[in-house]
Amino acid sequence: MTNAELMARDLAYIWHPCTQMKDHEQIPLIPIKRAKGVYLYDFDGNRYIDSISSWWVNLFGHSNEYINSKINEQLQKLEHVIFAGFTHEQIVKLSERLCALTGFDKCFYADNGSSAIEVALKMSFHYFKNRGETRPYFVSLTNSYHGETLGALAVGDVELYKDTYKEIMIKTLQTPVPKDRSLEAAKDAAKEFEKLLEKEHKNISAFIVEPLVQCAGYMHMYHPNFLKLAKELCEKYGIFFIADEIAVGFGRTGTMFACEQAGIKPDFMCLSKGLTGGYLPLAVVLTTDEVYEMFYCDYNEFKAFLHSHSYTGNALACAAANATLDIFEKEDVVAKNAKKVTYIAQKLEKFKELPNIADVRQTGMIAAVEIKGYDPAKRIGLQINQESLKRGVFIRPLGSVVYFMPPYIISYEEVDTMIDTVYDVIKGL
Ligand SMILES: *Cc1c(COP(=O)(O)O)cnc(C)c1O
Repeated sequence: MTNAELMARDLAYIWHPCTQMKDHEQIPLIPIKRAKGVYLYDFDGNRYIDSISSWWVNLFGHSNEYINSKINEQLQKLEHVIFAGFTHEQIVKLSERLCALTGFDKCFYADNGSSAIEVALKMSFHYFKNRGETRPYFVSLTNSYHGETLGALAVGDVELYKDTYKEIMIKTLQTPVPKDRSLEAAKDAAKEFEKLLEKEHKNISAFIVEPLVQCAGYMHMYHPNFLKLAKELCEKYGIFFIADEIAVGFGRTGTMFACEQAGIKPDFMCLSKGLTGGYLPLAVVLTTDEVYEMFYCDYNEFKAFLHSHSYTGNALACAAANATLDIFEKEDVVAKNAKKVTYIAQKLEKFKELPNIADVRQTGMIAAVEIKGYDPAKRIGLQINQESLKRGVFIRPLGSVVYFMPPYIISYEEVDTMIDTVYDVIKGL
């Protein structure tokens, strides 16, 4: 089998995510035969560094021997069982560990990030309903992204994904994200948020936020103090705080969870992506006993949270998640990453000298360089993607923002290759 053969067969039957399919008349689709560590291998014998962790999910490399073995072990016992009325060992273990790690009391599972957002939104709205209040609005930040299902899209604010569907969105309110990483910007944004809350808080169930980095929002980063101020405001006005740590959780920002850097404890936390080390779809919404108890009563009071997904609590996915947490425990990953974070920061310095760079920014294992001076119609990001692929590095810019978000097991040498290659490509534009 060659790349060309598989591509032709794929395009005959498949519609890919987040893609204008006509692009594939010019741009080859890349069939991947196998992957190991940071490398993806195609059918023509090329290999590519997976610089974006296969859409931010992979933590410890592809085909990780330990995670493989744990999934294999689980596969011999139980692959999946309905999760209403039944339970299993992997999910009990996982839930105990997640609660111990985060300080939350209860886990509600889903099978992808967007579904976890839907759960958190519905649960927070439903909490107030059970208390006898109807609060139809949610607040989110400008430039935010929370997924693609209708509810998640409605609390998001990336025009490219949302604008087409505006007539069918639920009503949401947006408050400005801090404009940069300064403390001043954090305070300004908190002031704006308070103005909105003063007016609307009685109609609002929850504030939802991506802590520290708005990843899909062009890797926009802001000061942790904003989260602290926003949390205080949510408490003052009696609305829930939902932390969407789907992209930033599990060490991405330099701490196990991004909220730790602000010293806050949200009312809900949504996790997915890195939860299974990038192996299998799984998501969880963590919350408190206080929320749980608002739903806990005799059946005939009809206050239960009657939400479900067929694959909720999949045993193989939970085994992958437990294996991922094992690695965090055994290998002191967050501390080890800290050295790599510093190394990446040094490597980024040279981008600042290029005339076509508008900004260089980094939060933990997320690093971004913003290109300036090109007409959006030229699709400069796509050019960088194509040229880097030819040189063995897979990078997938967001508009004109080129970012690195590699698996944590990337070696220093591979960091050099990844960054130097992209640097050369950008320099040569
Ligand atoms: C990816 C992402 C989601 C959606 O998760 P899916 O599994 O893709 O549905 C939600 N929020 C954030 C911050 C994300 O990065």
